Amino acid sequence: MQAEMVQFCEEGGLVIEAGLIQNEQAITLKEAKEMKNLMLRWRRRVCESCHEAFDITTHGLFYQCKRC
Ligand SMILES: [Zn+2]
Repeated sequence: MQAEMVQFCEEGGLVIEAGLIQNEQAITLKEAKEMKNLMLRWRRRVCESCHEAFDITTHGLFYQCKRC
């Protein structure tokens, strides 16, 4: 899992920090489901309820920002 994540990020030019992929473009749950193993590894995610991007390191849970 960890090795797979590291390889995926190296190939995609993505940085991992504190166990999370430091993606600039927020990912939707639908997109994340295409890479199931990495589903909970994305830092920036799109809320399923309000469709706003949020940063899981500051607030939110799973694919919910919890502010809407
Ligand atoms: Zn929301």
